[in-house]
Amino acid sequence: MAKIQSIRGMNDLLPEESPLWQYLEGKLHNLLSRYGYSEIRFPILEQTELFKRSIGEVTDIVEKEMYTFEDRNGDSLTLRPEGTAPCVRAAEQHGLLYNQMQRLWYTGPMFRHERPQKGRLRQFHQVGVEAFGMVGPDIDAELIALSARFWKELGITEGLTLELNTLGSSDSRKAFREALVSYLTPLKAQLDEDSQRRLDTNPLRILDSKNAETQALLADAPVFDDYLDEDSRAHFAGLCERLDALGISYVRNSKLVRGLDYYGLTVFEWTTDLLGAQGTVCAGGRYDGLVEQLGGKPTPAVGFAMGLERLCLLLEATENLPEKKAQADVYLVSSGSRAEVEALKLAETLRESLALRVVTHCGGGSFKSQFKKADRSGARVALIIGESEAEQGVVQVKWLREEREQQELASAEVVATLAAALETPAQ
Ligand code: ATP
Ligand code: MG
Repeated sequence: MAKIQSIRGMNDLLPEESPLWQYLEGKLHNLLSRYGYSEIRFPILEQTELFKRSIGEVTDIVEKEMYTFEDRNGDSLTLRPEGTAPCVRAAEQHGLLYNQMQRLWYTGPMFRHERPQKGRLRQFHQVGVEAFGMVGPDIDAELIALSARFWKELGITEGLTLELNTLGSSDSRKAFREALVSYLTPLKAQLDEDSQRRLDTNPLRILDSKNAETQALLADAPVFDDYLDEDSRAHFAGLCERLDALGISYVRNSKLVRGLDYYGLTVFEWTTDLLGAQGTVCAGGRYDGLVEQLGGKPTPAVGFAMGLERLCLLLEATENLPEKKAQADVYLVSSGSRAEVEALKLAETLRESLALRVVTHCGGGSFKSQFKKADRSGARVALIIGESEAEQGVVQVKWLREEREQQELASAEVVATLAAALETPAQ
């Protein structure tokens, strides 16, 4: 029978890759708690309406990338393409937002039907960080500082650039949108197809077009800065001042608009040229209007999401991978059913008393093949129990990584001996 394969663009994570993910996640959990952020978990499926209303009907995600289907009741459900909208939905539903400040984070798979390639998958993973109830640029700066510290703790000191922009208040966006449409309408025929369509529906996204001819036409387009009102300017200046004070450098990219509708004021992306076209590792901004748009009271909010697959690629590209760890400290080798029982018991005693990783050989086999597995496990020491050892209540201790004579110990002495010996690192 033909074997069933995974879905294109949805990867398995194999045992040899999972230590890198655990390393990343461990660092993130630690960092987020040091900044006072709490984890929130919400389902992978939501009502389709949630994403339509938040991300925007005329965005790449909603127009072409969502996994949407009818369930058995005929309800339209969508596999979450991002976490901000469900995070707001959950926080609002459980009364976490009204008159409160919240610092939240989440992680997990997101789903988008895109063309799979390096750094672009159909099931990918994000860590998202969202802060609610804080209106000033200090929280924007905190989030950016948190991301900057994360790169530092991962050893990525070069290769990432912080691109920063402001999308202003909704009034200034409206004024700018009108000016942009007036400028582009006579040039419509020369725009790429997507941009032609967006001219009517979502003209700001044209700034983000990857098409070179469209970009050339934009060279003389009106500039957003000229349309910013005073409050928007003050917020942005406040953010820049704080980033300067923190020593975080950035590049102003006035074309940065982001692919989702809900952003206003601050937007930012951490980008790299080490990953080809998939160069954005982390992206976010302020979305003060979203909570209200989803039925809550007006609530200031700002957040970002980072793509973990791209981060893994970046760690590889910058040679910042964590050291490979051995799978075990101690490997138990045994032969004969009585010895097997003794080995299982001894392994439990060791795990009970010492913080060691203990692997018991299961399933029998010759001593030779068991030693091969012991070696491959990376263990420093093999404990051997054959028939006669089992009978006499002793264990042979064989050091696998250092010049040291094999010892015979009474079973009762093994814990004390290993405790003393394994405290010193291997030579
Ligand atoms: P892009 O411009 O690369 O399509 P995006 O603007 O659609 O990115 P966001 O919605 O802002 O991305 O998501 C935040 C982050 O999630 C991105 O910066 C990226 O690191 C990651 N990401 C987004 N889509 C994918 C994907 N299909 N596969 C892997 N990672 C992704
Ligand atoms: Mg995208």
